[in-house]
Amino acid sequence: MLDFLYPKEYLPSVFEITPEKLKKLGINTIIFDIDNTLVPYWIKVPTRELENYFINLRENGIVPAVLSNSREERSKVFCRGLSIPYVYRAGKPLIGGMMKLLEKLGKKPSECAIAGDQIFTDVWAGNRSGVYSFLIKQVSPKDELVTAPKRPLERLIVRHYCKKYNKEVL
Ligand SMILES: [Mg+2]
Repeated sequence: MLDFLYPKEYLPSVFEITPEKLKKLGINTIIFDIDNTLVPYWIKVPTRELENYFINLRENGIVPAVLSNSREERSKVFCRGLSIPYVYRAGKPLIGGMMKLLEKLGKKPSECAIAGDQIFTDVWAGNRSGVYSFLIKQVSPKDELVTAPKRPLERLIVRHYCKKYNKEVL
């Protein structure tokens, strides 16, 4: 019944999303949420580890992109170092922002995946648009004010999902 909110996979970190893994799924594009998926909300640019990760994706034929609900400055500053394509104020879980990004990238939903820390924005937007969904454990326990109230219900859904698929709650 809650299947539309369930991720295809639930992972402890984006670093588990490797080019090999994506290729096996027939995916060539990985769309990231920024806040609490890649870095905590107060960190403005990618870490060295993330930069190397994005470079490795590209070297292996995977296109990294960003879909963020935040204001333009957030994505612009985060993405400019490596010229990662982005769409800001994406309005996830609505799919308008996702469609805009897919158009910009020239990709079909079936060849893309989204990685995000929130069920009600990232996972739902992915599931709705036919994009493969990875739920990522949040990198920091500290959330922005707009996100914090959604967490208890998300945790409940994660527990149901883990019970159904016999997974460990991260
Ligand atoms: Mg997030």
